Amino acid sequence: MTQKRPNILFIMADDHASKAISCYGAGLNHTPNLDRIADEGVRLNHCYVTNSICTPSRAAILTGTYNHVNSVTTLDTPIDNRGPNVAKHLRTGGYQTALIGKWHLGEGKAHEPTGFDFWSVLPGQGEYFDPYMIEMGKEIEVPGYATDVITDKSLEWLNQCDPDKPFFLMCHHKAPHREWEPHPKNRHLYQEDVALPDTFNDEYKNRAKAASEARMRIKDDMKYVDLGLVQPEGGAEVGERTKPGSTDRRIPNPEDVSNLRLIDRDTGEVFTFESQDELSHFKYQRYLKRYLRTIHSVDESVGRMLDWLDETGQADNTIVVYTSDQGFFLGEHGWYDKRFMYEESFQMPFLMRYPAEVPAGTICNDMLCNVDFAPTFLDYAELTIPNYMQGKSARSVLGGEVTEDWDQVAYHRYWMHRDPDHNAYSHYGIRDQRYKLIYWYNDGFDLPGTNQGGQDTEWELFDCDKDPLELFSVADDPAYAEVRREMLAKLTAKMAAIGDEPAHCE
Ligand code: CA
Repeated sequence: MTQKRPNILFIMADDHASKAISCYGAGLNHTPNLDRIADEGVRLNHCYVTNSICTPSRAAILTGTYNHVNSVTTLDTPIDNRGPNVAKHLRTGGYQTALIGKWHLGEGKAHEPTGFDFWSVLPGQGEYFDPYMIEMGKEIEVPGYATDVITDKSLEWLNQCDPDKPFFLMCHHKAPHREWEPHPKNRHLYQEDVALPDTFNDEYKNRAKAASEARMRIKDDMKYVDLGLVQPEGGAEVGERTKPGSTDRRIPNPEDVSNLRLIDRDTGEVFTFESQDELSHFKYQRYLKRYLRTIHSVDESVGRMLDWLDETGQADNTIVVYTSDQGFFLGEHGWYDKRFMYEESFQMPFLMRYPAEVPAGTICNDMLCNVDFAPTFLDYAELTIPNYMQGKSARSVLGGEVTEDWDQVAYHRYWMHRDPDHNAYSHYGIRDQRYKLIYWYNDGFDLPGTNQGGQDTEWELFDCDKDPLELFSVADDPAYAEVRREMLAKLTAKMAAIGDEPAHCE
């Protein structure tokens, strides 16, 4: 073992879409500190999550395995912490290890973090203000704003590290997860209205029914509580289920909006509306601005971490990664949330700086998946990648050496069919550099008494070059019959390689 092995600083946000990082070029906001990682390192355009939801993504990152192997397929399947993970390998291999911030892989002795010398995590989703944390098994309350608290604790741990040994720190922010509560000092940011995405008023034609059935629309489904709003009558939150397990909901944008009064929870400001369109526009603006304001704090926090590396002379020998557990819809197709294999939620932002191997300003268009993270870290740490890991080390790819045998596909499977809150359909599929094939197998998580699993299964095929907004499935277009056959072959081969079972595949 040599002291030259790099430190690994892994910073992960929660639900941070790449479009809300300025170096990705969408023009929504300015994130100078995140951009600095890309400017001095590499920005990935095709990094993908294998299951676009918090808990399963975190399990894939930690273990380097797909969800049917690590058994963390849904939000309700906590990790079995007796299994191996990347932190355990790094710790055994001489690294000092810590995890600080969001965990969301379960609580209690069977599910709390293992493999870390120090851990301090938010229970569940955690709170934005004065969060409770479980620190080494003990509950504590920490005053302050969650993003600052997580950063302070991270720097505190880094400062007590032995400088003669490398460190591995997983710094996991809660932000920008809903309810998108910004730090009070940032509430004034982003006064200008944000342009609506081109697909905001998507009518969900020419595709599988999953898109029209999902209840993730900003206009119809977003809860006012997530926007920091209350209603004066104090009744049931509009948009919530009328009773547990029911699919009935009060309509969040009633036909007659003239009686609707929404009140800002922090300032008391009262909002009224003349039309549904006005209400819809208001909700979108409020959502985006709150989201971007919470990201402002994350960017500042990353700046503090980069400064610390500079001040302690460790910038050159530290791999800095910034990513998010998945992407997020920022009004595309009219949606918020994630879950789908459509590009906005499927793509993870991924920025990395490691001057020793990665030239500044590199743009990487090769395909990575979050199961590749763990083996990649072990490779950088000069440790053996264990056989159980299904991802591959991306070290050569990140360094700019694209090898012929690098697998340019990403596999996605979402298991929580028709969960009560979002009604997203279960599916699996594969994306390569040009096309995306999705099989909506529609099974697995129906509400009691409503099982429609396996009925009306559908295929979607998108030409990502010609139709980047994914508005026209060409699955049944004769001109794409050969492409569909090829993509099905890729999907079948991938599922066989990783051992995932097809679901009553046609
Ligand atoms: Ca998430």
